[in-house]
This record gives sequence, structure tokens and C-alpha cells, in this order.
Amino acid sequence: MFEALSGKLNGVFDRLRRRGALTEADVAEASREVRLALLEADVALPVVKDIVAKVRERAVGAEVIKSVSPAQQVIKIVNDCLVEALGGGEGVEHVPGISLAAAAPVAILMIGLQGSGKTTTSGKIALRLRTRDKKKVLLASLDVHRPAAQLQLETLARQAGVTSLPIVAGQSPLQIAARAMEVARGELYDVVILDTAGRLSIDEALMDEVAAVKAATRPHESLLVVDAMTGQDAVQTARAFNERVGVTGIVMTRVDGDARGGAALSMRAVTGAPIKLLGAGEKLEALEDFHPDRIAGRILGMGDIVSLVEKAAETIDRAEAEKMAAKMQKGQFDLEDYAGQLKQIGKMGSLSGILGMLPGIGKMKAQIENANLDNTLLKRQAAIIGSMTPKERRNPDILKASRKKRIAAGAGATVQDVNRLLKQFDDMSAMMKRMSKLGQKGMMRGGLG
Ligand code: GDP
Repeated sequence: MFEALSGKLNGVFDRLRRRGALTEADVAEASREVRLALLEADVALPVVKDIVAKVRERAVGAEVIKSVSPAQQVIKIVNDCLVEALGGGEGVEHVPGISLAAAAPVAILMIGLQGSGKTTTSGKIALRLRTRDKKKVLLASLDVHRPAAQLQLETLARQAGVTSLPIVAGQSPLQIAARAMEVARGELYDVVILDTAGRLSIDEALMDEVAAVKAATRPHESLLVVDAMTGQDAVQTARAFNERVGVTGIVMTRVDGDARGGAALSMRAVTGAPIKLLGAGEKLEALEDFHPDRIAGRILGMGDIVSLVEKAAETIDRAEAEKMAAKMQKGQFDLEDYAGQLKQIGKMGSLSGILGMLPGIGKMKAQIENANLDNTLLKRQAAIIGSMTPKERRNPDILKASRKKRIAAGAGATVQDVNRLLKQFDDMSAMMKRMSKLGQKGMMRGGLG
């Protein structure tokens, strides 16, 4: 799946990476390209819009992490947005695979159009439950319209090493379902997989039949099987089934083919139902749990960068930062502290990290980050502070012309540079005091980052 989308997104990131610092225009252009790539991958339009809006908003408002490049940060942001579209992300509970958390025998209802891979998937799930979960599994075909389907399930059951419910000619789907549950209870099966009949397209009779079986068997899982190759049709099928019958999860098959991947990205948003499993081949072993983060990783192919950015964001020394934040709030932040902060530049943009610890910081943080805090400037400032005496650092007011001259010479800078540093430090201290006052009043809460 995803190859074409991967290629396109990689192209976008390559272009970003050739820039040193990203401007708003760069981010806008990248968002446009991400939008095109998603549309070409057949992602539903509202989902595309949502993803792109999120990417842009977060890229513009992102807290700068100095030890990674802006392009790398954008990659991480796109990654997070994809994970969310796929049904994962922070604060969202995604349980991969199917749930058996119910009293035995647990019924699993398999739903889907003919040819979607429903019967094959029933066999795959049976095999996995028997071998991995050590469950006693009963397979039953409710497809009375096509005797071949019942025989196919029988063959698959044999291959999976599980039992299939004996075929009794002339029974209705409801009767077969009732018999399956009875046998399962009597013979202490853990799981019963009910493979309903498929149709070539959605019709009322099919919906009625599935709904009736569902009402009678009260399955713990109602899994809809859809073919990834059918793209947006798969999403619409899922929406129709979920509205009419209610599904607990979606199995997307043929992800081993060259489907464009849009269905996987649209599914959650359009249908509201989570993708739980992926079918990745004709063999019974070819069944995978669906992990939003791993799929996003597969799409971007940039797992290294994503974890790099995550780590860099964690590198900030929280204890140190909290100490500094407290000092700032009390207005005790001096040049010594400022120098300490400059030293941490190698680790990450600790200034913004510290600002993040202050309560209630909104737009001002962006102002500070935009205020030319680039690396060379910070290094020069570190050198200037380095050539001050401890007393001067704690008490910048004593810095008169002769001291400034000495300091500038020691740092290989000019007196102007020294003045600029002091001015900046003054401005910053004033801003800190203002911000902490605002913060204490609880205003400007929930700004950036
Ligand atoms: P049903 O009509 O929905 O029960 O579909 P079947 O289970 O009979 O599957 C139809 C065809 O699709 C069979 O030839 C399967 O081998 C094939 N198939 C099912 N799942 C997958 C999959 O994940 N990948 C591939 N490549 N083929 C699959």
C-alpha cells in the first residue's frame, strides 16, 4: 500500500531539508504539497483538510527544538497528524487486534461484501486465536446462498487446525447461528466465528440478514472486512454497515497490493470505527494487528527522525528548567543564569523549554523565539558573559564603559555587542516579570506548544 504516498511525502521533506530555517511561507508550501500527496493517495477530502490544517497550525506554533532541524520537526508533526488520522495518538486508547474480553463462548461476527476476503480472514483469525491465544475455536459459515462458501470455510478451518460447524442443508442463517452458539456452549468452545454471507454490493436484504444475526447472537466483536484496493468505496461500505448494523472494528485486506492507502487514512474519520486488523496476503498467517503509529511510520519511512525529535524534546533538563522558571518568576534571573542557559544550547532550545514551564505563556513565547536567538548570536553572547567576573554577572548595573571595554576585548567582541546583550537581557527580564504576573493571574493560558 502507501508506496506512492511515501514517495511524495519524502519529496516534500527533502525540499524542506534544503532550507536552513523554515519560514511561514515554507510551511505553507509544504502543507500544500502534503495536501496534494494525500489527495493523490485517495484520502477523503474532509480528512485531507483536517490533517493539513493541523500540520500547518502545529508547524507554525511549534516550540523550536534547537538540536534538530526545523524540517525534522515538521516531519514529526506530520507523523503525529497521520497517527491521529489513523485512530491513534496521545490520549486515544487504541487496542490493536480483536478483543476477547467477554464470557465464553465469545462470538465474533464477520461482515463484508463478497470478495472482500471475509472468509479468508475468518480462517486467519481462527488460526491466530488457536496458536497465539491458545483458544478453542469454532468456525461457522452462515452463507446459505453459496454452498461453495460453506465448503471453503470448512477447508480453511482444517488448514487453521480448528473445527467447523457441520453443514446442515436447508437451515437459515439464524438457525445456523443458533446451532453454532449451542454447540459452542455445550462443547466449551472459547470463541465462535460466524462468517455471514456476502453480496456483490450493499443491499437491504443483506443488511437485514446481518442485523438479525447480530441481534440473535449478540457478538462481542462485529468485524467488517473491506478490501483496501477498492479505496473510497471501502470507506463508504464501512460507513453504510456501521450506520445500519454497527461494527466494532474493521479489517482491511489486500494491504499487500498496490492500494493507494487513502482508505486506511480516511476510515476512522469517516466511519467512526477503528481499523483493528490488516490482511497482508493470501496465506492464513498473513494477518497483522493495526497500530496507527507503525502505519504512520511505514508511510513516512522516517522512524529515526521521529524518535530523534521525541528524544530531543525530552532532553531538556526538567529539574534545571523548573529551577530557572522559579527564578524568573521571582525576578531573580541574572546573567549567570542566562549564561547557564546558553550552555544548554547544544542540548536543545532550553530557553523555550524554560518558558514552557512558566504558567500561562502565549504569544510572547513566539516573540522571544523569533527574536533572533540564532546560534551564532547565542554563542557570542555566551563568550561575552564568560569574560565577565561573577560579580558583574550577578549585578550587571556596575558595568560602566571601562568594564565593558575589557569584557568586549576578552570575548573578541565589540562594546556594541556587550551593550546589545545587556539591552536584550534587560528586555527579557522585564518581559519575564510581566509574563509571570500574567501567568499568576491565569491569563494567556493554553497558548503555544
Ligand atoms: P469473501 O468472498 O469475502 O469471503 O472473500 P475470500 O475470503 O473468498 O477472498 C477472496 C480472494 O481474496 C481469495 O482469493 C483470497 O485468497 C484473497 N485474499 C483475501 N485476503 C487477502 C489479502 O489480505 N491479500 C491478498 N493478496 N489476497 C487476499
